[in-house]
Amino acid sequence: MEERTYDIAIIGGGPAGLTAALYAGRSKVRTVLLEGKAPGGQLLNTELIEDYPGYLSITGGDLAVQMTEQATHFGADLVIAQVNQIRVEPDGMKVIETDEGEWRAPAVIVTAGGNPRKLGVPGEEEFAGRGVSYCAVCDGAFFQGEHLAVIGGGDAAVEEALFLTRYASKVSIIHRREEFRAQPILMEEARTNPKISFVLNVVVESIVGDGRVTHLALRDVNTEEGTDYVVGGVFIFIGFIPNTGLVDRHVEHDPGGYYTTDPMTMMTSVPGLFAAGDVRAQLTRQVTTAVGDATTATIAASKWVEDWHKGRAGAATEPLTAAVREGDRVA
Ligand code: NAP
Repeated sequence: MEERTYDIAIIGGGPAGLTAALYAGRSKVRTVLLEGKAPGGQLLNTELIEDYPGYLSITGGDLAVQMTEQATHFGADLVIAQVNQIRVEPDGMKVIETDEGEWRAPAVIVTAGGNPRKLGVPGEEEFAGRGVSYCAVCDGAFFQGEHLAVIGGGDAAVEEALFLTRYASKVSIIHRREEFRAQPILMEEARTNPKISFVLNVVVESIVGDGRVTHLALRDVNTEEGTDYVVGGVFIFIGFIPNTGLVDRHVEHDPGGYYTTDPMTMMTSVPGLFAAGDVRAQLTRQVTTAVGDATTATIAASKWVEDWHKGRAGAATEPLTAAVREGDRVA
């Protein structure tokens, strides 16, 4: 198992994880990136990306391929294995338990992203894959010419509703209030799209069907009036739940479950455990912020590992002094 001991283990191969692998590889730190499925993370569920500098427009799939090539080019190992648990040993070593066995590293960067939040209404589970979807890019083409509902009022809901107009005859954005979290530029695009309409101040009470989704039972939050709303499918984009339950001990987090990290180093409350991307508490979750955080986390993790090897890991309970010393800053 000697070859399975690294200096840094990266958990999850989305943009944050791939950036961490790139920086660790270039720093000549022995690094393994463990990813459960294919590298790319949410890029693989995104049609077009137009807010990643350097590309006016690129498909999520193409960006994922390019990031993966670059991530492994400088020597980081990429392993496809589902991580089940990260165990922290008394000396600070982390043991990463996967379906394919164990990996060990003193520093771990968690870049495991998150999963779509569920509505939690009757019919949602029953009709998953039969009219209920959480991925427009994956499933949109199955709904050619149909009337679709999109649930949510954030960037994801509005962006995906716009994408679904390629296939659907009509897309209704159903939102529980009148104000939207989505960026104004997306709202303007949606409001001027003739295929998009808005159904506001309503909640979904249940998803109803007969083998496949046929309609939604909606309730108006002001009048309490109920309506049966006929749709061919429903796409749910109401946020997501971060994958922050892997560590075998308490890690400080915010009420949403996102890890709170030291702003200078991205280190969590557990010494040697760093976080970047969608698992981290922050204002917004963009590809650009994920890659930026991962850069910081990796440089800090490399320095923390140096200290750990020199037996100075005890100092790591103070993240700032542990990972960023005078003269350490990287240009
Ligand atoms: P989000 O911004 O958290 O929005 C979630 C939406 O779902 C909100 O409108 C919320 O309503 C609604 N919602 C939550 N729980 C609900 C429930 N139980 N029933 C009905 N509605 C519910 O999530 P997101 O849109 O997935 O975006 C997540 C992050 O990714 C954001 O930071 C976003 O900026 C970023 N993102 C960016 C882009 C882009 O820039 N191109 C694209 C996608 C995502 P309330 O508003 O009433 O709470």
